Amino acid sequence: MSLLEVSGLRAGYGIVEVLFGLDFSVDEGELVVVLGANGAGKTTTLRAISGMIPCEGSITFDGAEVRGKRPDQLLSAGIAHVPQGRGTITALNVEDNLRVGAYQRSGREVDSDMELWLEAFPRLGERRDQQAGSMSGGEQQMLAIARAFMSRPRLLLLDEPSLGLAPLVTREVFDRLRDATSETGTAVLLVEQNANLALDFAGRAYVLEAGEIVAAGPAEELQHDETIQKAYLGL
Ligand code: ATP
Repeated sequence: MSLLEVSGLRAGYGIVEVLFGLDFSVDEGELVVVLGANGAGKTTTLRAISGMIPCEGSITFDGAEVRGKRPDQLLSAGIAHVPQGRGTITALNVEDNLRVGAYQRSGREVDSDMELWLEAFPRLGERRDQQAGSMSGGEQQMLAIARAFMSRPRLLLLDEPSLGLAPLVTREVFDRLRDATSETGTAVLLVEQNANLALDFAGRAYVLEAGEIVAAGPAEELQHDETIQKAYLGL
């Protein structure tokens, strides 16, 4: 059984339906990407899993049904969500943002984890007293990811980390993320428009179009499948 199993996922906003029955899974420690154009429903998929919007279907995590649980309950269960726009607390400095990420934990472990992540993300280590709001987009994205790791998640939901970042900075964010996941064994469900980069990073991919999964497979296969590339990935 996979760590995350989603079946028949339907969601939308009021009378507007956006997702029309998605089936997908993420294994323990696996890096999976959901690709798709603007408006395909990528963000909505993550919002549904993380309990931010109502949905239908089944979402099991580690064998237990979690559909309908609140974001804080999911965080306790081991699912952390880095939303689009990053969601750092701009008025707080780097250290305090990281502490917020560990708000459900206590004790000395939090301090030692914080040192670990400040080392793993050197740009954050250099800026531990800087207010998040005054940092660059790439630095804020790294802070948002490091903050999510402070809750020691088993699954990280990551919404378009490349948004608004220059290609080199995006590459750095992905490199740090890859190191962090291989160090901790955390699984990642990433949604991205930047197919090229995401397929380099992920092991497996799903392609979403107008709220339906239209292709799926190992990232390497999708990367070399010309039909899929032309039809869906704009490569
Ligand atoms: P992008 O890459 O542009 O972020 P996406 O694939 O993440 O796109 P979603 O944000 O999931 O797409 O949006 C899917 C559809 O749902 C779009 O048609 C969008 O307009 C609609 N939508 C998103 N959020 C809301 C909302 N709060 N209220 C109403 N409709 C919404």
